[in-house]
Amino acid sequence: MTAEHTPKRSNFITDIIDEHLENGRFDRVHTRFPPEPNGYLHIGHAKSICLNFGIAQDYGGLTNLRFDDTNPITEEVEYVESIQADIRWLGFDWDDRLYFASDYFGQLYEYALQLIRQGSAYVCDLTAEELREYRGTLTEPGRNSPYRERSIEENLDLFQRMKAGEFPDGSRTLRAKIDMRSPNLNLRDPVLYRILHAHHHRTGDEWCIYPMYDYAHALSDSIEGITHSICTLEFEDHRPLYDWCLDELGIFHSQQIEFARLNLTYTVMSKRRLLQLVREGYVSGWDDPRMPTLSGMRRRGYTPEAIRTFAETVGVAKAHSVIDMELLEHVLRDDLNARSPRVMAVVEPLKVIIENYPEDQEEHFEIPYFPADPENSPSRAVPFSRELYIERSDFMEDPPGKFYRLAPGREVRLMNAYYITCTGVVKDKNGEVIELHCTYDPESRGGMSPDGRKVRGTLHWVSARHALDAELRLYDVLFTLPNPYDVPDGGDFKDNINPDSLQVVRDAKLEPGLASAVVGESYQFMRQGYFCLDSVDTRADAPVFNRTISLVDTWAKMQK
Ligand code: ATP
Ligand code: MG
Repeated sequence: MTAEHTPKRSNFITDIIDEHLENGRFDRVHTRFPPEPNGYLHIGHAKSICLNFGIAQDYGGLTNLRFDDTNPITEEVEYVESIQADIRWLGFDWDDRLYFASDYFGQLYEYALQLIRQGSAYVCDLTAEELREYRGTLTEPGRNSPYRERSIEENLDLFQRMKAGEFPDGSRTLRAKIDMRSPNLNLRDPVLYRILHAHHHRTGDEWCIYPMYDYAHALSDSIEGITHSICTLEFEDHRPLYDWCLDELGIFHSQQIEFARLNLTYTVMSKRRLLQLVREGYVSGWDDPRMPTLSGMRRRGYTPEAIRTFAETVGVAKAHSVIDMELLEHVLRDDLNARSPRVMAVVEPLKVIIENYPEDQEEHFEIPYFPADPENSPSRAVPFSRELYIERSDFMEDPPGKFYRLAPGREVRLMNAYYITCTGVVKDKNGEVIELHCTYDPESRGGMSPDGRKVRGTLHWVSARHALDAELRLYDVLFTLPNPYDVPDGGDFKDNINPDSLQVVRDAKLEPGLASAVVGESYQFMRQGYFCLDSVDTRADAPVFNRTISLVDTWAKMQK
């Protein structure tokens, strides 16, 4: 297998895999993605998904999707469904290998009985608080539980009665018998099972004892024949326990490999924190376009390709790091630039009346969607008429030196249409400009100079009579600081929420062709940014567009 393939990826994980294939420890590669169904997936999970599925693909191997549903309290069916939809959207497929750790509860219980029979596990009656106290600290060894030397018979009897529901929550645990003096706290007789009379989303009320994560995870990997169990760095100290479980039972031994989790500036990446934002109404839901969740990013207009490219670009490492949001946005712009048709949309409209253009006349300009490559570009017909909208910011009554757009007496080009000259300014009683009067040069059709005379400004425009009214949602980062957790004592990460992370524009004017915009496609509103149709709030006659990202990077400016 190693000889004929050339992996796309090459990193410390593929080095380990190569070694295993060479020394014969494994003759295949089988990974898994093991989400806990207690929230929606975020961009950090995407990194793990791309890694697990990507590595297996590179080696012609397989990847399982396994829900780590060992905690009945926080898990919900909604999450199980959204997680599957998000992984598919990212472009990965687990075929028929969808598993749940809860499917193995019976087998995990049998393995626990085996550990008890071998004298490797015991039932302990210490309370949670006593357990903590007996455990010791990093600098002090732990103490043996007074229940540690129970007989195998007594342990078997008590554990079976724990399962039968004879004891209340928290009254007993099953613990591994390892070493209370181990420098690794995870090896100080860790709890393998706890009593919890709780309803589980799949097993219902069948169980009132639930296995702990470390135990369930190692055994699930083994049961599924996972060769490489890739997880994040915080599990490095748990690896000896992972190995202990498998060695003690003498079953198939998967290799756990840890890498540093993805952290991004200006956002938070923990399901617990994201859930807080949802519950407390800081965002509209898990799929709010400002959230770092895959459902939020999808709604915002991110493509799966952009996210996969980002995951490849950041790579994997053993050392903690924080990636700049700028990098994610750079990758996104590259992706959208290549795929997005260019269209005209006026965000803040100012009416223009072309006085010498006949009132009942209209015409259409055939404009390529990709003006950089007009020969190979599809095009559409854009209507033009006597009354138009231009961008309010494209006019100044008293322009400073470097302002080349419209001003009284000045001539500019309406993109792909005509040269126009501003001949009059209409104001309301507060002195605000509400309308411009202009003339056009019929000889400049298509926006071409009729006689070689040059204009410096080129403006986008929309015919007033044909315009599609739309709501635009302009997003900014959700937090004002690169590290949202940077708060004074007693503060909270939510203190750093950006109050201006969403700006709503209600009366934007779009070229009429955008009435057939579809969810999932990206459009470049020329000079404004990349936009997509909102999948949730759009109504038949009331489109809502999300700005995925502005055209130019605003960071350089911000960080000065
Ligand atoms: P969170 O801390 O956000 O709740 P988690 O690690 O508890 O995340 P799980 O559902 O247990 O979430 O994670 C599923 C897989 O995704 C695990 O293998 C985990 O290591 C990986 N993962 C989670 N967050 C990140 C991240 N920020 N970067 C890379 N991988 C991650
Ligand atoms: Mg977790």
